[in-house]
Amino acid sequence: MNKPPLTILLAGPRGFCAGVDRAIRIVELALKKYGPPVYVRHEIVHNRYVVEGLEKQGAIFVEELEEIPENVPAVFSAHGVPKSVFAEAEERGMFYLDATCPLVTKVHVDAHRQERDGSETILIGHAGHPEVIGTMGQMTKRPMLLVENKEQAETLKVGDPDNLAFVTQTTLSVDDTAEIVRVLQRRFPNIQAPRKEDICYATTNRQAAVKALASRCDALIVIGAPNSSNSNRLAEVGKNQGCEKSILIERAADLDFTWLDGVQKLGLTAGASAPEILVQELIAACEEKFSVTVEDVNVTDEDVEFSLPRALTS
Ligand code: SF4
Repeated sequence: MNKPPLTILLAGPRGFCAGVDRAIRIVELALKKYGPPVYVRHEIVHNRYVVEGLEKQGAIFVEELEEIPENVPAVFSAHGVPKSVFAEAEERGMFYLDATCPLVTKVHVDAHRQERDGSETILIGHAGHPEVIGTMGQMTKRPMLLVENKEQAETLKVGDPDNLAFVTQTTLSVDDTAEIVRVLQRRFPNIQAPRKEDICYATTNRQAAVKALASRCDALIVIGAPNSSNSNRLAEVGKNQGCEKSILIERAADLDFTWLDGVQKLGLTAGASAPEILVQELIAACEEKFSVTVEDVNVTDEDVEFSLPRALTS
């Protein structure tokens, strides 16, 4: 039987970013150097496939430090942790490796500087996301104000409108964040921006790639975890760019192929914590049902790499 044709527009860049790659390498190298078990506080990155792969090698994932026994190495996830977690680890004399992405650390440093300069800091981000919990937990004098959307930016109450600064989560929608910032700047013209954009290169590039292909697609699939912020944003960007049929799935087995009925051009991308093997798995699953042509839509090349903690390289 002849298979119907399907063109897959494959977004580039997609998938792993330098921060995720570094975090996974830290756990793998810790397992190699110290032997299992290595405890990891929170999912090292938001991807079940990655987490299960590391579990097979001897990593144990927990949510709180108190679940980690004495005398075993601990790793803190790529999303960053509140200062209180470092303090507790020091107090307990734990040996820990910090896998916080350097671009998240940059946001923490900005927030410190703003606090030191006496500003009240606003964080644009999503309540409850581990990165937001970690960033809000950097403050030592007064809590950050969290703004999740334009509506909240319109009604936010601040201490002194002339003594404000903001930072953002690294994995937000570039366009939605620009709108929120515009509202804040209109209401508080003297608000200080971060020195350099907080939304990271990987988030920006993956969204740009989706924008480049969304209007040409009948449907868009984003491979990523339901709790992955940047993956959710990619599906939203697809919809906002005119590809209403945009979904986020963890892997090929989650796709009901009737969803592709009538689709001739399918956009395909992956969030920054989703490995390429899951993209290829989806393409292979499509090839069983369609005569597939893959077309690369690459908007830029990435060559970012982050160094590893010295404890693992010496
Ligand atoms: S998405 Fe951006 S901030 Fe998050 S780990 Fe990757 S590079 Fe770092």
